[in-house]
Amino acid sequence: MKNIKDYNLEDLKKEIVNIGEKSYRAEQIFKWLYVDKVTSFDDMNNLSLELREKLKMNFSICNFDILKKQESSDGTKKYLFDVLDGNAIETVLMEYHHGKTICVSSQIGCKMGCKFCASTGIKFIRNLSSGEIVEQILAVEQDTKSNISNVVFMGIGEPLDNYDNVINAIRIMNNPKGLNIGARHISISTSGLVPRIYDLANENIQCTLSISLHATNNEKRSEMMPVNLRYNIEELMKACKDYIKITNKRISFEYALAKDNNDNLQDAKELVSLLKGMICHVNLIPINKIENGKFTKSTNENIIKFRDYLNSKGIVATIRRELGSDIDAACGQLRRKNLK
Ligand code: SAH
Repeated sequence: MKNIKDYNLEDLKKEIVNIGEKSYRAEQIFKWLYVDKVTSFDDMNNLSLELREKLKMNFSICNFDILKKQESSDGTKKYLFDVLDGNAIETVLMEYHHGKTICVSSQIGCKMGCKFCASTGIKFIRNLSSGEIVEQILAVEQDTKSNISNVVFMGIGEPLDNYDNVINAIRIMNNPKGLNIGARHISISTSGLVPRIYDLANENIQCTLSISLHATNNEKRSEMMPVNLRYNIEELMKACKDYIKITNKRISFEYALAKDNNDNLQDAKELVSLLKGMICHVNLIPINKIENGKFTKSTNENIIKFRDYLNSKGIVATIRRELGSDIDAACGQLRRKNLK
């Protein structure tokens, strides 16, 4: 059955007209789903009983059950959701002084194979639908009885490998008649799917693009991220420069620091020359070691030196706070689970 949360408002109007109803009914339903946040058609009490029955016959409302919830000493929460097909995904909620940020998954599993990431190594199952992406927000809001102000596509999966559903999910989140999460409060992180970066540039959505760079030359990057064999650093940086030209927006580069791998002064120098002249921000992530992984965290001393060097050369770099590492909720620690 069709999941009613898979539709942005315009498409929902078409669906509602298709079942013989007036399109303004879609606005009412949209409000029930994303403003009143009800979990059943029965609660939509300004719709006739007959219409509610018709909706039940044509659509499902996907409501995730929480299979497990863990809370970190720093307040970060990690949820394991039953996605209703025998699989489960993880979603993380982080508390910042400026509000609540949710880290959503975009796929069940991931194809990218980054060597330092726990989402790798387990089979890719399928893309999440737009409704399943949006439901992560609704389920967490319901559990915490609060509103989420920021969304980052940094959970399990490569968001640009599930391009259409991710863009549609953003349109649903964005709508002022619904969740009303501004695009400026949404970040998409990619391992570097070059053609999709161009697509995104031309999408006219104001979200932030984060690039998982992690290394400054092809040899090192390919070793960490096999996607680099498909789209190398030169192609990736050209796409980033073009993205900035087209959108006039700043890009955020993620750089996970691994001891004796990509964290010395020479790497910092190469990074400076790579990013020269670009409007950007560098997010340094102390790498989280995964089970059987060969990359280990840089020393604090090296991380600070790396940041200070970038800053001294005029590149704004900050060190990402390590939230939720005690519950395996930090960067690179999420994995898909199989319930069967
Ligand atoms: N597939 C997307 C988004 C998911 S990961 C991407 O690659 O960008 C979100 C961020 O966490 C990425 O920058 C990713 O490279 C980083 N990451 C993955 N594993 C990590 C680890 N073990 N330690 C630190 N950061 C990690």
